[in-house]
Amino acid sequence: MFWQEEIETIDSKNLEKLQLERLQKTVRCVYENVPFYRDKFKDKSLKPDDIKTLQDIRKLPFTTRDDLRLNYPYGLLAVPKNGGVVRLHTSSGTTGKPKAIFFSKNDVNQSAELIARCLVMTGVKSDDILQNMMTYGLFTGALVMHYGAEKVGILVIPAGPGNTERQIALMQDFSSTCLHLTPSYALYLSEVMESKGIMPKRDLSLRRAYLGAEPYSEETRKKLEQMLGIDIYNSYGLSEMNGPGVAFECINKDGMHIWEDNFIVEILDQETGEPVTEGQQGELVLTTLCREGMPFLRYRTKDIAKIIPGKCRCGRTHKRISRILGRVDDMFIVRGVNIFPQQIERVLMSIKGVAQNYQIHLEAYDKMLVKVEIEQDFFDGNIEHLLILKSKITEKLKSEILITPKVELLEPSTLPMSEGKTQRVIDRRTL
Ligand code: ADP
Ligand code: ZN
Repeated sequence: MFWQEEIETIDSKNLEKLQLERLQKTVRCVYENVPFYRDKFKDKSLKPDDIKTLQDIRKLPFTTRDDLRLNYPYGLLAVPKNGGVVRLHTSSGTTGKPKAIFFSKNDVNQSAELIARCLVMTGVKSDDILQNMMTYGLFTGALVMHYGAEKVGILVIPAGPGNTERQIALMQDFSSTCLHLTPSYALYLSEVMESKGIMPKRDLSLRRAYLGAEPYSEETRKKLEQMLGIDIYNSYGLSEMNGPGVAFECINKDGMHIWEDNFIVEILDQETGEPVTEGQQGELVLTTLCREGMPFLRYRTKDIAKIIPGKCRCGRTHKRISRILGRVDDMFIVRGVNIFPQQIERVLMSIKGVAQNYQIHLEAYDKMLVKVEIEQDFFDGNIEHLLILKSKITEKLKSEILITPKVELLEPSTLPMSEGKTQRVIDRRTL
């Protein structure tokens, strides 16, 4: 099932032609309307007419988060602020001050179109009901998904996050079939369901959930799919690119299709800014092709991913990117070793007995403590089992990250749980 079959299955020749036309238009637009870009072009002695092929994208300047902050709030608008834009979003501010993002009427519509493609790609039909458990408000996550689902024509329950008992009641009363939420909240939700004796397969009508807004591993997906008895699809987006709907998994769950008629994707070496060899991981850099209010050239997302080679069985021709393997800002160093929180998560979630939540504490240059919740049974049973589990966790972590962390086992629901993005790493070394 397709939402816009022709564009979703476009062949490479036509896609490249369309991308080039849209790139040239975007370049002309920012050159004429955004002084920030005009200055950058001048610095490089570059004119819009110099962009003659798609490869010429490499001549274009990068845009960074700092550029957004320095030009806050209106500096990067390509249309008049009065009459040209109809909606403001800000990024959730996980890292530093928020960034202001404006949508024109067409941007609102286009972001909804992309979500509609994504939902239909996972099999959504008119009898589906989406319970949207992302935060409504300045964050793009909920509203953009909401508009997209309405475009498909399905019922949306604007639940927002939190109040987990009410969420479950909504699922029961209105037979929600799809959920949209963060992975950390999904883990919490499954824990609450378990503690209340709710068996999703028996008691609810859920079919699938869309998880995004923060990184999670394949192990977490599998764990949640098993606990909730549903299909879980990865959803990637960022406010700077209209929010969710940038890249999304199809039913094959083998990488996320990134909508190349809307974005040009580059994977670059984060240090040198040069392209990595195809299939290698690097920083995802995106250029918008359809944005009106705030077009961006070569935006450095700071998200690490790689391109998945080959064609997808679903028939869509748009490239697939891997799961986000990390965020440049999330990486921390212990005893000279570079570590991403997801490496820890992947190990923990693959171990039987580990429950839903964990935290990483960095206490000194060489001291790392992993606090991890484990299933209640282990506390109620034999202490030896607890010790065996602890050394298993320590060993497995050591073989992944090459240093031996201290491990502390906790009962379920001990660590704080966030409804939005969860803080996994607590770095006291800089305090
Ligand atoms: P921020 O968190 O920077 O304040 P946003 O709320 O716009 O801004 O969040 C976008 C960021 O969330 C992305 O750049 C990425 O790091 C992360 N993110 C979004 N979706 C996913 C996903 N499916 N997997 C991993 N990370 C994701
Ligand atoms: Zn596919």
